[in-house]
Amino acid sequence: MSWEDNVRRVIPYVPGEQPKIDKIIKLNTNENPYPPAPGVLKALEELKEGYDNLRKYPAPACDALEEALSEYYNLPREQLFTGVGSDDVLSMAFLAFFKGEKPVLFPDITYSFYDVWAEVYGIPYKTVPLNENFEINGEDYDIPNGGIVIANPNAPTGIAKSKEWMEQFITRHRDVVVIVDEAYVDFGGESCISLIDKYENLLVTQTFSKSRSLAGLRIGMAFGSKKIIRYLKDVKFSVNSYTMNTPSLVLGSASLKDDEYFREKVSAVIKTREWTKDELKKLGFIMTESKTNFLFASHPERKAEEIMNKLREQGIIVRHFKKPRIDNYLRISIGTDEEMQEMVRVLRTFL
Ligand SMILES: *Cc1c(COP(=O)(O)O)cnc(C)c1O
Repeated sequence: MSWEDNVRRVIPYVPGEQPKIDKIIKLNTNENPYPPAPGVLKALEELKEGYDNLRKYPAPACDALEEALSEYYNLPREQLFTGVGSDDVLSMAFLAFFKGEKPVLFPDITYSFYDVWAEVYGIPYKTVPLNENFEINGEDYDIPNGGIVIANPNAPTGIAKSKEWMEQFITRHRDVVVIVDEAYVDFGGESCISLIDKYENLLVTQTFSKSRSLAGLRIGMAFGSKKIIRYLKDVKFSVNSYTMNTPSLVLGSASLKDDEYFREKVSAVIKTREWTKDELKKLGFIMTESKTNFLFASHPERKAEEIMNKLREQGIIVRHFKKPRIDNYLRISIGTDEEMQEMVRVLRTFL
């Protein structure tokens, strides 16, 4: 017997790197290239004045933020949950809702944190292969299961299912919790939030990290029936009450008040995405139909890893997953127009 026999051993999730050098074009972690809303800066200055408040614990129920979310989404607070990024929200949801013996299902190619949470919490799971076009085949999920997680739009494929398709899917799985991870929905997907009153077992998660340019603050949220949110809060408050810090609560709510800026920047990213897609097509790349702030691209004649390394030599960082089926693809986050023009220019030099 060794103390190590009792260790919960896991292979952790590996986030994309955050290089220390400044002069790079960073297109590897789907951050937003634009600064957060100007209202956030104003709130930051007000925070400075009230800096003495940092002595105190934050509001455990995330009042300021939940009130702002409640107003923005026109939902009662009992249908909202907030956490330290949607990673925290999803991790709490895995802990709260998946305790059965049947496997939790999610696609073989999707956000690579799902299997890590399942492993760390000892939740049985099974991955369901996407088809050859990286699409979800709904019928493949008609097997005994203890819950389902779907990223919509999916990552790293960028492909979205319509709300109609999602509703059809949810109606077939009323007896388990269905989590829909909408981290990228603002870039062209259709949200399932309007379905939460109809399906008590549905939990929709979103984040401020991508569309609101606030990855550094770590703000994520979930929407659901009063019942499902109650269960989620009960688990969360049994683990750690004070997860969200005061600055995040204040700055996050400020970001919600600047809707015009938000819409403008989201449209800018979408426009740049479509421009980049056309340029990459001209260079021979094939791509999925992305509804996100990244492109999932493969070149029929050149290895993805080779392209990634060549870009890297020129200070441009994109993401490559050494995983079956997708190891010849690159996930390229959408930056500013100038950044994407530079990437296309560099690609032209060797393709
Ligand atoms: C980025 C991402 C998340 C997590 O985002 P947070 O920064 O933790 O809010 C969750 N799901 C998917 C699919 C993502 O791409």
